[in-house]
Amino acid sequence: HVADLDALLAGLNEPQREAVVHGEGPLLILAGAGSGKTRVLTHRIAYLVGTGQARPDEILAITFTNKAAQEMRERVEMLVGRRTRAMWVMTFHSACARMLRADAHRLGYTRQFTIYDQSDARRLVKRAIEELDVDPKRFTPGAIHHEISDAKNKLRDAEAYAQMVGSFFEQTVADVYKLYESELHRMNAMDFDDLLVRAVNVLELFPEVRRRYADNFRHVLVDEYQDTNHVQYRWLQLIAGEHRNLAVVGDDSQSIYGFRGADIRNILDFEDDFPDAKVVKLEQNYRSTQTILDAANAVIRNNRGQREKELWTDLGIGDPIKVRELDDEHAEARFVAGEIERIVDEGVSRNEIAVFYRTNAQSRVLEDTLVRAQIGYQVIGGTKFYERAEIKDAIAYLTMLVNPQDVVSFTRIANSPRRGIGQTSLSRVISWANTAGITIWEAALEPDSVPGLGTAARKSFHRFMGAMRILGERAAANPPVSELLKEVLSESGYLEALEADRTIESQGRIENLEELVNVAAEYDGSVDLREEAPSLAGFLQQIALVADADGRRDDEGLVTLMTLHNAKGLEYPIVFLLGCEEGVFPHQRAIEEGGLEEERRLAYVGLTRAMRDLYMTYARTRAVFGSRSYGARSRFVDEVPIGLTDRNERPSLGVGSARERATSWSTPLGSGPIPGGGWDSGGGGGGGGGEAYRMGDDVVHAAFGEGVVIAVESGGIVVIRFARDGSERKLVADLAPIEKR
Ligand code: ATP
Ligand code: MG
Repeated sequence: HVADLDALLAGLNEPQREAVVHGEGPLLILAGAGSGKTRVLTHRIAYLVGTGQARPDEILAITFTNKAAQEMRERVEMLVGRRTRAMWVMTFHSACARMLRADAHRLGYTRQFTIYDQSDARRLVKRAIEELDVDPKRFTPGAIHHEISDAKNKLRDAEAYAQMVGSFFEQTVADVYKLYESELHRMNAMDFDDLLVRAVNVLELFPEVRRRYADNFRHVLVDEYQDTNHVQYRWLQLIAGEHRNLAVVGDDSQSIYGFRGADIRNILDFEDDFPDAKVVKLEQNYRSTQTILDAANAVIRNNRGQREKELWTDLGIGDPIKVRELDDEHAEARFVAGEIERIVDEGVSRNEIAVFYRTNAQSRVLEDTLVRAQIGYQVIGGTKFYERAEIKDAIAYLTMLVNPQDVVSFTRIANSPRRGIGQTSLSRVISWANTAGITIWEAALEPDSVPGLGTAARKSFHRFMGAMRILGERAAANPPVSELLKEVLSESGYLEALEADRTIESQGRIENLEELVNVAAEYDGSVDLREEAPSLAGFLQQIALVADADGRRDDEGLVTLMTLHNAKGLEYPIVFLLGCEEGVFPHQRAIEEGGLEEERRLAYVGLTRAMRDLYMTYARTRAVFGSRSYGARSRFVDEVPIGLTDRNERPSLGVGSARERATSWSTPLGSGPIPGGGWDSGGGGGGGGGEAYRMGDDVVHAAFGEGVVIAVESGGIVVIRFARDGSERKLVADLAPIEKR
């Protein structure tokens, strides 16, 4: 055992070790990227458990994403073995949801409360807006929901909010907020913000509950503390404020969630909150080359209110940062695909490569290109598996079986698949449930009592609820969730309707549902990894929480794509940063609304994810909302000292590529050698080398596969139709990686 502990400490430098062995009392690590903050937390947990200072179930460790939680758990497990099961290593939301499963009944919810995701919540806000007759054009549900969410994160309930109203907008929000809150409560549902707010409510209102958690979690540790907001801060205080065994780590330069109410002062004021806190500084970076660090430091230095931090590395100077200008977003995507192919050829595996961008929408062009080039990839946070209609439907069915009050879920499934329940009949049943003070389930079960319901509709409800009742009885026996799900899909007629459809799309939906059954089976099978017995409610909770965030696989064959916000805490040997253009990154809204410092911190986060190779790309033109715009190179590119970079500078464009983007695949590069291997190494297949093409020639393209020449145009341009997807592309014959067959 002692040997294990020695080994544990051996992998740490002096200040890291100090933080790990620090006994009781508050601890703060405020240090730059890659300096081992997360590593310290992991090792500290292992050390506390390994030395017997804490039992695993006395540890509460908060991470920012589910993925980070999983990684931390795995790392601790490697250090102390399977005893980690009893630890709470999770996100704020998961920890609060778990707390509420046990204690929400004190606030009038059942254990089976539903967790609404953003889109459900927004729908509910919309309904409230309609009910209050607010002009939805004047104030969008999105804007109102955002304002409500903001209030919740500041722990302002509807009543408190109403008292501070200043403008007409705020008055509207106050009205909607009030109705929205009561609707949520009536449906036995919580939105994401509620998870934290209600957890705080329980802790504040019930001293014995607070006592229980505070006594139980004798050590509380928080990663990425710079991004906590007020309600999270309060929750931590309630649990750890008394024993004060609170260890937080973070970096003020990486605070990127201000727009969601994160308050950077939480970390900067930690020493005021806890004057006797042990403060540890970490200055050695173990992640990146000196070049990458220098670049990141140079960029962040342009912010005013940043704490100076010294970071050094002994990983060497490394290669310059490759800055590349491309014609448009398609050329940018092809450049990335080409580089990836080249790098992979050199023996790098794909999972060592990540591509970051500012907004989710930017991934589409890149995804199209990667698919064509047959480069496997995964999108983190953007795939939205759980947002697909069929998945949401299936989950709504399951949700109804545990929460008969859930009107949102009911509305979703009542006529899906189509069974002759129209909007009007549905509204009648809903308002009858309200009037009669019964659940929506009860109201639908007896449609004959609902005033104004036609015969056909009554019949439809009878049939529908007949199936639901059978499913409800099945669910009550607590069968494996995967079995229950399969029954739901068949009993409800859902699968049958899809099968009858016989389109490619419905086939895809069936496959997605099969995947959901797999997810459920995995849940059923992971019983021994959990404390709680498996249950439908448990499954739904897990889904609700995972769906919001990540789900990263360490598959060797996959390149990882994600937004910069999702990249926090992660590291990759090779990183591409796309769309470095004014208006894209920094984002237009940030430029206009004074959010530049936060954008710059986001740039700092992006740059410091890279271990070895870093690319920054920007396009001369880009399609924005359907029209072409011309953005200037991002200021963040210019803030990187030129000596640290390797740039492709092109005097001018050859063929008019903005006009016809398909040709830009192989737009002439201007003169001179292209540094860094060039930015159009996409194909790798032998170029045409002056080969003449004629209509009807069969060709093979390195990325797009087989095709046929359907036209030859002036300037050596050929038009090829590709067999794989039927697309037609204009290519410069001499430069494109095509060959005659
Ligand atoms: P970020 O601010 O980006 O979250 P961080 O400060 O949390 O970064 P870590 O992710 O903990 O940094 O560490 C960065 C990398 O350096 C990891 O791969 C980690 O394993 C490694 N590392 C940290 N400390 C040491 C050490 N003492 N010896 C060897 N490797 C280390
Ligand atoms: Mg970290």
